[in-house]
Amino acid sequence: MAMRFFSTRDRPVHLGPFPLERLARGRMPDLTAVPPFQPLTFSRPDLPGSIINAMGDYQAMMDAIRDGLVNKAQAGCPEDPQVRADHIKAFGYFADAAMVGIGPVPQSAHLQQPYRNPDIDRLAHDLKTKQTKTLASGIDMIMADLRDAMQAPPSGIGGHTRAITFLYEMPRDPHPSEDGCDWLHDAEHHRACLRASETAVVLANYIRLLGWDAKAHTGTSADVDLNQLAVAAGLATVKGSRLQNPYLGDRFGLAVVTTDFDLAMDRPLAPDDQQPGLSTKGPKWWLGLGSERSALNGDPFAARDFKDGPHPFETLKRVETPTTYIDEARVARVPKRADMFARSQFGDMGKANQKAATGGLYARKAAPSMAQRRMLGAFVLLQDGEPARGPRPTDSERNAANVKAASYWLGIDAVGISRCPDWTWYSHDATGAPIVPDHDQAISMIVDQGFDTTEGTSGDDWIAVAQSMRAYLRFSLLGGVIARQIRNLGYKAKAHTVMDGEVLQPPLLLLSGLGEVSRIGEVILNPFLGPRLKSGVVTTDMPLAHDKPIDFGLQSFCESCNKCARECPSGAITAGPKLMFNGYEIWKSDSQKCTTYRITTPGGAMCGRCMKTCPWNLEGIFAEKPFRWAAMNLPKAAPALAKLDDALGNGEMNLAKKWWWDLELEEDGGYRPTRHPVNARGLQKDLDLKYEDQTLAVYPAPLAPHPWPYPFPMDREAGIEAYQAMVTAEEYQSRRARGETGAWDHIYSNDADSPVLQVIVSKVEEMSADVTKYEFRSPDGSDLPEWTAGAHLDIVVAPEFLRQYSMSGDPADRSKYQIGVLREDAGRGGSKLLHRIFTEGRRIFISKPINHFPLEEGAAKSFLMGGGIGVTPMIAMAHRLHALGRPFELHYSISDREAAGYLPDLAQAPWADRVHVHVSKEGGNVPNDVEKRFGRRCGFHGYAA
Ligand code: SF4
Ligand code: SF4
Repeated sequence: MAMRFFSTRDRPVHLGPFPLERLARGRMPDLTAVPPFQPLTFSRPDLPGSIINAMGDYQAMMDAIRDGLVNKAQAGCPEDPQVRADHIKAFGYFADAAMVGIGPVPQSAHLQQPYRNPDIDRLAHDLKTKQTKTLASGIDMIMADLRDAMQAPPSGIGGHTRAITFLYEMPRDPHPSEDGCDWLHDAEHHRACLRASETAVVLANYIRLLGWDAKAHTGTSADVDLNQLAVAAGLATVKGSRLQNPYLGDRFGLAVVTTDFDLAMDRPLAPDDQQPGLSTKGPKWWLGLGSERSALNGDPFAARDFKDGPHPFETLKRVETPTTYIDEARVARVPKRADMFARSQFGDMGKANQKAATGGLYARKAAPSMAQRRMLGAFVLLQDGEPARGPRPTDSERNAANVKAASYWLGIDAVGISRCPDWTWYSHDATGAPIVPDHDQAISMIVDQGFDTTEGTSGDDWIAVAQSMRAYLRFSLLGGVIARQIRNLGYKAKAHTVMDGEVLQPPLLLLSGLGEVSRIGEVILNPFLGPRLKSGVVTTDMPLAHDKPIDFGLQSFCESCNKCARECPSGAITAGPKLMFNGYEIWKSDSQKCTTYRITTPGGAMCGRCMKTCPWNLEGIFAEKPFRWAAMNLPKAAPALAKLDDALGNGEMNLAKKWWWDLELEEDGGYRPTRHPVNARGLQKDLDLKYEDQTLAVYPAPLAPHPWPYPFPMDREAGIEAYQAMVTAEEYQSRRARGETGAWDHIYSNDADSPVLQVIVSKVEEMSADVTKYEFRSPDGSDLPEWTAGAHLDIVVAPEFLRQYSMSGDPADRSKYQIGVLREDAGRGGSKLLHRIFTEGRRIFISKPINHFPLEEGAAKSFLMGGGIGVTPMIAMAHRLHALGRPFELHYSISDREAAGYLPDLAQAPWADRVHVHVSKEGGNVPNDVEKRFGRRCGFHGYAA
């Protein structure tokens, strides 16, 4: 990024990077004279190598979700329209809009013929029918919500009175012979449209979550004229046949949110010839005084090729191997199931973690991140796919240049390319199936989490989770487009996102030269972005030239600084040395403590305080250059620099940058001011944290769980012992050389049988309004394991919902299993979610049949008493007794016939004559006490449920 001379630490976020406040405002012009917006199409069949084709599905997916259901529980947010407008604009700038304006929705802006992206229907079908294969928390709920929204009738915008317009600037045109620009020609309108659409769709969703109606309008699907609304919102004037922005000319794209949320409006711009040139484009603008953007730092690529990125990566020292030791031959591959968020969901880490992870509550509890997660979930459907019959370009240098230029052009902050060795892949996927790596190239990408919001936050308050999600979402979109582009060229490619990834990203970031290992642990620190980043990786088999690892002196710096460890609210970061974990040398943090704190803290949503307080979290202004130079070149200066950073108060909260509301999700689904004290905290400069006072735990390969989607409790005592057994890289290498083994040697093995079976939901039959019968078959049609009457199945509805259901079929029939499920709307959510997502064809996991309720087959007579859904195990028992020719009676007790699901089934059973139905509304006598009703008789057995 081009250098800035003046800090904008005092500039409120809602003002944005450009000095819009200096522009003169005027009266509303005649909007009917505004040239109409020309919709875009994202298809270039004549240019199969154009990146526009790769953007198409992502644009369509955003169009598919531009609308949705409004939260019935309205938020407790401020009522002042100006406060609301500032907040919404700040959210837009947080999402990287260049400019945001708010205006009315004049009648003239309503399109007589709304335009609609023709690709929506195909993707909407995928959304309705495709099943994701991921352990991401809450993904099933996101997919179910998306399906519901797809089925809702399209909404009108008749009641919308405000239009929020997001303006995204275009990058410069590629130079005619610029390396790396093979895919980018004539695509800048589409790129601006894509980026603006991301923001508009997220913000529309946010406003609906707050409880007001809102709909996004993009360059490919809209009910309104975007140009008229940009003029009405004070972002552009008309010059000839085009719109003109005072700072960007005509190089911008637009997207809009219309809403009934009352917001203060901006006034339209005065005509160009009435703008006060001295204040709008005078010395302040040229020097960048008071605004982030200036005449001199407008375009980071003005004097750089796109392939080289916005930062001077070419100045970094490159080395042959990473600055931390990796025992490549012995890196322990572990299953996806070892991820701490997955373990929280399955209950491995206790009830509190499981509750906090249920349905992704830790992200849902804050409205901004909830607004982002919907799109994140939808993009999972696009991140992988089959390669097209493309040209398969083989020039690895040229391919690498094209990948890098396109990634930077789209908006990725740093890209590095490396090999993708097998040891960087997880051993098993989310279903427990072994992963066979079939891509050997990795494109690692990092996304800045944004300086301004990082300044305002404590790191663990109510915006922390949205900072992460914003960066994850950006990678999902842009990394996803790059993966699709590579598939369009004929190679395999997958974007590994936060929702669904199969590689470990930190080692790939090291190999590709995007950073070094930091004391924070799994966080790789980049010299230009510090630790303020999130990463993503695209793996592929396309030949690519590689980057080398970098050495910018971080190992010495972190050895002399433990600010992150001192500031970590959970005490998860080690104040001690780097140690060997699973074959990597790392400052190993206590991930159990970190994850537990992040998902359960009541004073905020998630945490990134380590990232926020690190001295490498820099604004990017000229005055910081000496720090960066000294930190990179003078290892001995590290202790002094770390102290100086404290003395300057870096890492404190800057309230000028606090733009978000501290709202928390309540029971009724509404977002209201949190009742908990907010994690607003200052630096703990006086704390002298000592390694010997810390109790840390780790879960290396020998303590990793089995690979299957089923609980595996965590043993913290064993984790503490494992931490104490870890050794330094030097010690590790000398023990290896001596041929020793021991607890320090981390090897993953799993020879246990799977506790779960994968089956297909083969039949879904609604028995009554609340009861549905489900049948499951094996995927290959083979017989299922034997079972006995009275058995139940543990059903993995979702990782956080393991539910037991009695088997209700005939034990002699091994072609299928059968259960009946009563939807309990007031329950903990398992049966409700099951009813929503268990559709025919879905692949699910179940335990093998377990029987804690066995049938005594030799009884003189058996009485099977089932009340409501409790009849299900009695049906299995009746089948068995009938097959054995034993005497029995089945008593089915129900409140009324309408609500009873099993009457038709019982009537058709070969033993229907043994069934007695008791309807309480009809005065039926409910035989709930077997002994009282039938008497105690020798050899009689009774069963009640
Ligand atoms: Fe927060 Fe975890 Fe970082 Fe500690 S290690 S500051 S808990 S994110
Ligand atoms: Fe390293 Fe200090 Fe940053 Fe921690 S806070 S990552 S020790 S530089």
